[in-house]
Amino acid sequence: MIRVDRGTKPALLEGKKADWDKAVADASTVKAREAAFAKVRHKQIRAALEEAFHGKCAYCESEIKHVGYSQIEHYRPVSKRRDLAFCWDNLLLACGRCNGPEFKGDLFPEADAGGPLLNPCSDDPSDHLYFVFDPVAGLTTVAPRTPRGEVTVRTLGLNRPDLRTHRSRSVTRLAALALLASEHADCAALLTEAKRSDAEYAAFARALSASTESLEAAIGGSDPQARRRGSGRKTGQSDDRHPLARSSSRRRARRCAEYHRDSHQQDNQYPSHDTVPFQAI
Ligand SMILES: [Zn+2]
Repeated sequence: MIRVDRGTKPALLEGKKADWDKAVADASTVKAREAAFAKVRHKQIRAALEEAFHGKCAYCESEIKHVGYSQIEHYRPVSKRRDLAFCWDNLLLACGRCNGPEFKGDLFPEADAGGPLLNPCSDDPSDHLYFVFDPVAGLTTVAPRTPRGEVTVRTLGLNRPDLRTHRSRSVTRLAALALLASEHADCAALLTEAKRSDAEYAAFARALSASTESLEAAIGGSDPQARRRGSGRKTGQSDDRHPLARSSSRRRARRCAEYHRDSHQQDNQYPSHDTVPFQAI
């Protein structure tokens, strides 16, 4: 999750909001109310949100359009706040998984339950979240810095196994780029591109760039010779493989299973705010 500027309210929403709010208030049946709420899915509103969020889910940063349909998400659900159904500041773009009944759905934890959820348009998610990278399992986990971060990760399922596995493939490649960026301009350029707001999982690339010392200490080493060996310049011996490729498939599978099994566990211990945003373990 990254901070996003929602942009200017669409003129259509400005002009229609009062009529649409009245239609919701006048609806006497569930079906009529759902039809009134559906006005928010107008193509101009969807287009404005898709531009602001670059077609990515506001919560998990997955690109949506090439594999499915984006959803116009109410940060505060209309089941709890009908008056915010057509409020521009309450609208986000989300994928069907984060926004679906398995995860956020109509949930909205308030302060007494550790909330409210992080809002990428008003919070800086990096104040509340950091990332833990395990090069053996090849998995990157979103970890909380604060109670709001914790309730957001849990409510949105930001470490759900299929998302974490898919996302981690990208992050593992980014980690390799980060290790090589100081010596290879093309790697540095690719890492810079990966930090752009329109890049999938940009939060991880930004955190990586701020934490290369942690990454080198954990898997790349500070010895340039070692990193050159890791980059694949020498071949023929198993120890010359890149550190990110050294784990056996059996060891990797075991670590993956441990991660997925333990993903629900919470220890309620938060790191200090000085913790680097991308920790390799
Ligand atoms: Zn999502």
